[in-house]
Amino acid sequence: MKATLKALYCFLLTLSLTVFSSGLAWAGESLYQYSTIDALLAGLYDGEQTIKELMFQGDFGLGTLNGLDGELVVLDGTPYHISAGGVAAIPPDTAKTPFATVSFFQEDTILKLDRIESLHALNEAVTQGLPSKNDFYAIRIDGRFSFVKARAIPKQNPPYEQLKDAVRHQVVVQFTGEGTLVGYYSPSFVKGVNVPGYHWHFITKDRTGGGHVLDCSFEPTNARLDSLNAFTVKLPESREFSELDLSGDKSKELDKVEKDSAKKE
Ligand code: ZN
Repeated sequence: MKATLKALYCFLLTLSLTVFSSGLAWAGESLYQYSTIDALLAGLYDGEQTIKELMFQGDFGLGTLNGLDGELVVLDGTPYHISAGGVAAIPPDTAKTPFATVSFFQEDTILKLDRIESLHALNEAVTQGLPSKNDFYAIRIDGRFSFVKARAIPKQNPPYEQLKDAVRHQVVVQFTGEGTLVGYYSPSFVKGVNVPGYHWHFITKDRTGGGHVLDCSFEPTNARLDSLNAFTVKLPESREFSELDLSGDKSKELDKVEKDSAKKE
C-alpha cells in the first residue's frame, strides 16, 4: 500500500514537472520588451525596470541602461553592461533599463553561413534562411571575427537630447577574435515599437568587451535561430512616458541613427 502511494506521488510529481516545463516551452516562444523604440528616440532614457526584473523575462537579449549608458547584452542568463569604450561588466541587479528586449533562447533552426564580409552581407544571408519574415527571431552567432566595429554611447545627463543627437557622442571600438553576436530580427509591422529588421549586439568570448554592432566580418559558422511568435511590451508607468508625443512616424529618424552611425567611424 505504502509503495502504491509512493508510486502515485512520483507520478504526480512527474506530471507537475511536465506541466511546468511545457509552461517554460511557451515562455521560450515569446519576446519580452520594455518600453518602445520611439520613446527611446524621443529621449526617454530613464526606465523603472531593474535588471533583476528583466532577467525573469529571458536569458538572451539586448538593450541599454538608464541615461542611455552604453549597451546591454544578455547571454546564457547573464547580463553584461558595455560602457562607452567597449568594456563589458556585470551590472548590479538594481541597475535600470529604459529599453530592452529579451527572450528564453531555444534553438529551432540552424543556418549555415559562409564567410561574411559585412553587416549588410550578414543581414542578407540570414534573411535568405528566415523561415518567415512575419515572426520575430532571436539569433545567436558564435564565431571567429576578422573584425567587429561596435559602438556604445556614454551615459547622458538630463535634459536629454533626442537619440538622433545623442548618438553623435558614441564611442566606436574594434574587436578581433572569438565572440558572439546577440541579435533579433523583427518584422516590418513592428515599426514604432521595436527596430524592424535586424539589431545586433556583440560580446567577446571572454565577456570583457562588446557593443552595438555597426559592421563585422567573420569566418564561416552557424547562426542559431529561435523563432518567437508572441510579443509582450511592458510600457513605462512614468509621467515622462505618459506625456511623450508618440504620434509621429519616427522611422526616418531611426534609419538616420543607424546609417549615420554606420558611416561615422
Ligand atoms: Zn543596440
